[in-house]
This record gives sequence, C-alpha cells and structure tokens, in this order.
Amino acid sequence: PTRRSEPGSILKPMSQAEMKMYETYRDNARPDVGVEQRQGSPIIGLKNFNNWVKSVLISRFALPALQASPYMGGNVPGRGSGKILDMGCGKGGDLNKWSKARVKELLAVDVASVSVDQARARWEGMKGHRYAASFASLDCYREPLSKAFSSHQLALPFDVVSMQFCMHYAFETEEKACRMLDNVSRWLRPGGIFIGTIPNAEQLLEHLHELPSDIDELSFGNSIYRIRFDEREHHGVYGHKYCFFLKDAIEDVPEYLVIWDNFVQLASKYDLQPIYKEEFHQVFDKNQEHQDFGPLLTRMGVVDANGESAMDEDQWEAANIYVAFAFQKQ
Ligand code: SAM
Repeated sequence: PTRRSEPGSILKPMSQAEMKMYETYRDNARPDVGVEQRQGSPIIGLKNFNNWVKSVLISRFALPALQASPYMGGNVPGRGSGKILDMGCGKGGDLNKWSKARVKELLAVDVASVSVDQARARWEGMKGHRYAASFASLDCYREPLSKAFSSHQLALPFDVVSMQFCMHYAFETEEKACRMLDNVSRWLRPGGIFIGTIPNAEQLLEHLHELPSDIDELSFGNSIYRIRFDEREHHGVYGHKYCFFLKDAIEDVPEYLVIWDNFVQLASKYDLQPIYKEEFHQVFDKNQEHQDFGPLLTRMGVVDANGESAMDEDQWEAANIYVAFAFQKQ
C-alpha cells in the first residue's frame, strides 16, 4: 500500500530531508490507523495510560495557566481561554485534550510533515470545543520557531508549551538542546508553563550499570520494550545514545539521555524553573483516587469497569520508563 509521502508513493515524493526524518522516526510515519485498529493494539493499555498521564499533567499544570491567561480575558464559559504551543505534536494525539481544556488557540509543530498533515486533518474533523489552530513542519531543535510561524502568529505569547515524548531527541548535542529551549521560552509569557514527558535517564543508567560486565549486548527490556546502549560509560551530558524499541509503537529509534540536573541548569538560562517532576508510577499512585482522575482511568480504558488494569506487568514496567515534568517561566 502507498501512503502520501511514503517512499515509493506516486502522490508526493519525499524530499531528502523528509526521507531522513522518515527513517529516524519510523513510529511517526506509521499510518494513522484510526480508533478501531488502535483499540486492537497489543499495548492499548499502555497507550491509554500514557494518554491518561498527559491528561493529568494538562489538568494540573496547563489548565490553571490557560484559565489565568491575561490575553484572552480569563475563562469565559464557552469561548475558550489561552494559547498553547504543542512542539513535537506528532499526529495530533493531544488535540482532543486541548479541546477539553477549552484552549482558545493552538500552534502545533513537528519535524515530520507527514505527521503534521495528519494532525491538521484530525483537527479539521474534530468534534467538541473548537479552537483556532495553525500547523507547521519545522526541525525545532535546529531552527527558530519564527521560521515556521509569522510574527503575527507569534505576537501573542503562549500560556503553555507542551512537549510530549519528544524532548529527549534534542539532547543529542548542547546546540540542539539550547535551540529547543530557546524555542520553548522565547514566546512563553512570564508565569507561563512548560510541560513534558521524557524517559527517566537516571533509571535507565541504573539498569545499564546493573548489566553483567561480560555480556556482548548492552541491552535490557521485556516483551514490550527493549533499550540498547552502545557504550556503558559516557563522558558528558549530551549525546549519550541508546536505541529504543516499543512494541507496536517505536521501532528501534535512536534516543538520548536527558540528565535531569543538567536539564534544570540549562533551562534556568532560559528563565525556566522546575515546579514538578514525577515518575509515571507516582503519577498513578497519587492520582488514581482523585475525584476526577480516578474515574478518568476507566473512561480512558486504563482500568476496566471492575477496576482491573488493562496493562500486564510488562506494559506496567515499560510505562515507568518515563517521567512527567512542569517548569514555570520567570
Ligand atoms: N507529542 C506527540 C504525542 O505525544 O503523541 C508525538 C510523540 S512522538 C513519540 C515524537 C515526536 O517528536 C515525533 O512526531 C517526531 O517527529 C517529533 N520530533 C523529533 N525531533 C523533532 C524535531 N527536531 N523538531 C520537531 N519535532 C521533532
């Protein structure tokens, strides 16, 4: 089967740059399979759980910043409030969450134009609260945001910047991490919120250092995920590469460790101060009985009506690779 922009497609050939991104982010170039097929995924419990964590993060940190937006006249019922930047938006998996948060305007950007097209199409077909949205494709770790959006689009600062499951790709080099943070902070209002989800580098390093010294391959994982490092020791805080495989989602993609203390130090140069960091298991433990987030676990298919988890042990272990964070702009 041919897909628009896929190698071999007769509809729209890919540029060389796009081809490179296709190879790097194959997960991203997967077909947009639709709800029915997604429900049949062997890791649907894990996917639902990741979505639930993002919903909790948005409710706890993004929502207050959107509602307090000085630019949209507060939270006028029905009208929406605040402006958000979804950087590394992928196929637009969070568009509905922003609708539920009743945002007024969204700018979404991703390096993979195939995904951006899918995100735009998803927004066009979206039901529920409608907000204004602009979509653009850009390498946000090499280029300034102003290359993708006009000064008019950026004139009003963001209340929230969201980077879900994508920031760690910037930590290949210091230059990329700096460009990424500049893009996060430059158009974020003082008091605005930066939220994200990244792999827990400290935990991955612990696993790596626990591996026996005489094995050939520096890898660990289970039936759902596998992480493979090239080197046991790495000097410096950028470019510590590993390959990540996640069943039915990510096919052995190179990623980079985000050493938390270094990230915090670098972010402070961009006037961003940490206000929250938790492992995904902690997010679950602390919010499973919450009056809103508890019932949301059932509605989002993380647990069934009897309270049974939709995730088996291996999915649960894979879920805890990640941490959720929030920063505030000074
Ligand atoms: N945020 C989405 C979500 O939570 O569903 C997508 C997450 S996906 C695992 C990672 C995304 O990061 C991909 O869509 C990829 O194209 C994007 N990405 C990687 N490097 C990027 C870059 N340099 N600039 C912009 N987006 C990038």
